[in-house]
Amino acid sequence: MTTLQACSLLGCPIDDRFLAADDYAGPLARWCPGCGDHAILASVRRLCENHQLQPEQTVFVSGIGCSSRFPHYMKTYGFHGLHGRALPLALGVKLRRPDLTVFVSTGDGDCFSIGSAHWLHTVRYNPDMVVMVFDNNVYGLTKNQTSPTSPQGYPSNTQPTGALLGPMNPLSVTLGISGASFVAQTCDWLPAHLDAVLEKAFAHRGLSFVRILQRCPEYTDKIFTEAMRNPDRVELLTHEDGVDLPQLARTYQHQTRHDPSDLHRARQLAESTDRYRLGIFYRNAAMPVYEQVRAVPARSAAERLATLELELDKYAV
Ligand code: SF4
Repeated sequence: MTTLQACSLLGCPIDDRFLAADDYAGPLARWCPGCGDHAILASVRRLCENHQLQPEQTVFVSGIGCSSRFPHYMKTYGFHGLHGRALPLALGVKLRRPDLTVFVSTGDGDCFSIGSAHWLHTVRYNPDMVVMVFDNNVYGLTKNQTSPTSPQGYPSNTQPTGALLGPMNPLSVTLGISGASFVAQTCDWLPAHLDAVLEKAFAHRGLSFVRILQRCPEYTDKIFTEAMRNPDRVELLTHEDGVDLPQLARTYQHQTRHDPSDLHRARQLAESTDRYRLGIFYRNAAMPVYEQVRAVPARSAAERLATLELELDKYAV
């Protein structure tokens, strides 16, 4: 993903603004106190500052859900779409304006349930954008219904005696799609890890799928408690070409050296759910991005005229 510094191509003067993280801040975020979404918002604003993203060249696209309020809280362009439709909207933006920097904020209900067909196919298309899935294992905005990632037995309004099915595994599914080019997992309560993964996702050219384990103190407050309090339940995937954070290495003894170019191993690690694995599972920078695949080669006026004449000749009598 490229960082645009100025609109000098249009003849405008070079933009020498320096933007601090607060310059990307929209209105006060109205998520519940303690919601993990606040940490993700802060991390994304830091990323914007680090790369001096031009607000008028940056778009946040969302569907419906607590996570999908994200574009309202960024002082950039934004599109708050229909339920499950964040990805096709973002793809449309990217195809029409490949020069823009596009982020998607979506949730487990929005992306993995009603938007699941779009999820599979947008990953397959591999447009150049960062997709952040805020996964709190529940429908929070509509007040506590079972989502595709709710743990089996977890009670909600729609299944008060507990979720009947086991949760789906979004990492395994994404890694199973041909065309997947970047798959990572992080969490909202380790800001250094969240920042590092989003940085890598942003640097990747292609669709960066980032599942963010996100606390919802309102409805699923206990789900990530163990992951937060017991370092034994967490495993860091580290690699010099992935995420390497010495400050976390002192806390988390379970660490696996994992080369993100190894798809087979990435799938094995994703399927094994005995611990919460955080890091980059897979990255393939060589995967073609869709806006390039479908790009129409530029042709001169003479070439276009010749094509038109050839076409019209078919109907000559
Ligand atoms: S309901 Fe949950 S996910 Fe939604 S804002 Fe409140 S804490 Fe966050």
